[in-house]
Amino acid sequence: MNRSLTIVVAFSVGLTCPAAAKSTAPVLVPVPLPRNNPLKNTEQENQQNSKAAADLFSEKKLPSFGRPMAVGYYPRGCLQGGIELPTTGPTWQVMRLSRNRNWGHPELVKFLERFAPLAAEATGRKGILIGDMAQPRGGPLPFGHKSHQTGLDVDIWFMPMPDRVLSKGERENIKASNLVAADGKHVNDDIWSAADFTFIRTAAEQPEVEQVLVNAAIKKELCRVEGKNDRSWMSKVRPWYGHDDHMHVRLKCPADSPNCEAQPAVPGGDGCDKSLDHWFADWILRLKIPEFGGSARGLKLKDLPPACAAVLNAPAAPASAATEEPSKAR
Ligand SMILES: [Zn+2]
Repeated sequence: MNRSLTIVVAFSVGLTCPAAAKSTAPVLVPVPLPRNNPLKNTEQENQQNSKAAADLFSEKKLPSFGRPMAVGYYPRGCLQGGIELPTTGPTWQVMRLSRNRNWGHPELVKFLERFAPLAAEATGRKGILIGDMAQPRGGPLPFGHKSHQTGLDVDIWFMPMPDRVLSKGERENIKASNLVAADGKHVNDDIWSAADFTFIRTAAEQPEVEQVLVNAAIKKELCRVEGKNDRSWMSKVRPWYGHDDHMHVRLKCPADSPNCEAQPAVPGGDGCDKSLDHWFADWILRLKIPEFGGSARGLKLKDLPPACAAVLNAPAAPASAATEEPSKAR
């Protein structure tokens, strides 16, 4: 008992006090940390690694100082120098403002400011409703997604933007409309329309878009409607759990982000083939995977690229720099 106590105390002192660690004699009393401890960073990282990375990143209310850069992989990374999408634009409105997830790499913000009027024009609608993008410094999210970590992912609702500015309360509480029928195998004919088809195709046709995720029943309908026409855009549209009330748009790694890890190419053609069938197996339809395919809560800071510790602990960018670019764009 005494022996194990001695080992534990000597080990814990070794972690925090280099002078004591050199001594061979075990130290049996707690040693207070010196002020200005030279191992402060290590201690900070140790402390941070005892928490979920999602909690650390969600506590940061402002982006990190530094030039914009997407770091790591979509479900295992972070965002340096993120910028904010204005919550209301001429053809878009951001939903669920309390989440503070309307941040992204400038390429994502630029994409949305370009795509919103394009989609409105193509569908004859007023505009788009935007769900989650990323947290100010990206990183794992405490709930809702496995990805959305590098500032290159965005959820866009299928429900069109109404012809008025929604209140904060409405943006918090309005439920997105589900385009999939109750059996999970077809679109809901009562609300599915040709404009939904155009909406998804317009997103997939944009050159900076890597992938668009939708529910398998929606993908099946896209394949049916497109028939034998030019389907070059269709290979970007892939089925995934959930995604019955929004599409997930993922951008390619931007040129300014050497540490951004590209998504491997999806093998096969347009996906309008047998590979779609397994999504309609009963056991798949019964799966209740939380928030569409997984959670990032298990990740620690040490699981992310090392640059993400620097992003997390960097000083905040001045608020004006964070919002300057998007507001200039209008
Ligand atoms: Zn998403």
